Amino acid sequence: MTNYIFHYDLENAEICPKAAVVLRELHEKFQIPATFFCLGKVLEQRGPDLLKILGDTDLFDIQSHTYSHQLLRDSKMHGPGVSLDELRKEVSLGKRLVEDVFQRECIGIRSGCGFYRGLQGEPERLAIVVEEGAKYISTDLRGPADSIPSGLVQAYWYDEDASPGLLEMPGHGWHDNVLKMEEFYCLLSPWPRYVEWGIPRRPVKNPEEEFEVQKMWIDHAVQLGLDYVSLVYHPCSIFRMSPDCRIIEHMMRYVTDQSIPATTYTQLYRQYADSPASVPGRNAWTWESEKQTGDLW
Ligand SMILES: [Zn+2]
Repeated sequence: MTNYIFHYDLENAEICPKAAVVLRELHEKFQIPATFFCLGKVLEQRGPDLLKILGDTDLFDIQSHTYSHQLLRDSKMHGPGVSLDELRKEVSLGKRLVEDVFQRECIGIRSGCGFYRGLQGEPERLAIVVEEGAKYISTDLRGPADSIPSGLVQAYWYDEDASPGLLEMPGHGWHDNVLKMEEFYCLLSPWPRYVEWGIPRRPVKNPEEEFEVQKMWIDHAVQLGLDYVSLVYHPCSIFRMSPDCRIIEHMMRYVTDQSIPATTYTQLYRQYADSPASVPGRNAWTWESEKQTGDLW
């Protein structure tokens, strides 16, 4: 059965805490859990506020969005990745800030931006991530040529890259900020299109249009029977479009009505860690499997 994971990349010190207050209310109302990946630099500025908003409920899994959002490897869209020393700092300091502020262990790292195929092919970088104590990373967040949307790639071990104990847990679909904003058009889907669904012809204008797009991604994952789907969301972007954060309410209502169970990144990681062979692997969903061939029109 397909799980849905609500998650948020919390990276704007001014707007994200305001959004987090509203998101907390929604998650409590629906009793649906979520993972918050928090940027270290935001925790340095707003740690006590965020602890108050997010810290005292079991609904929230708090993990790291690196220290300062630097690129953990080269990106075709955004440029060269940081040095190995900087990479170590991004991971270790980001993780430590979560642990210091929330007084709980941090085992998951969501990278800034994300990459096609995550950190595959980067054994040296992966070894550093493991040395710094991460148990899972979420870096496989882009389509071919590091484009957006991301696909529906499922969790895989980095066994082919000399870090067999490290799990990749991809994020899926549109990054919500890109789905809304004209100026991000340059990041869009590669041509020819790989997926024939869930790609609108213009940015969405309100949460209701946004939900129509996101629903297609959720439905597709469910139809394929994938283990999980987790669309990439940013509290600042949600809040800018509507301070009531009602896109999240739409999605919560939908997964509830469809009886789609909700979990968190860490909860799913623990299930996989208890039963490593149950991890679907990098070929459970591939871009190639979606690629349309045949008719020209
Ligand atoms: Zn980010």
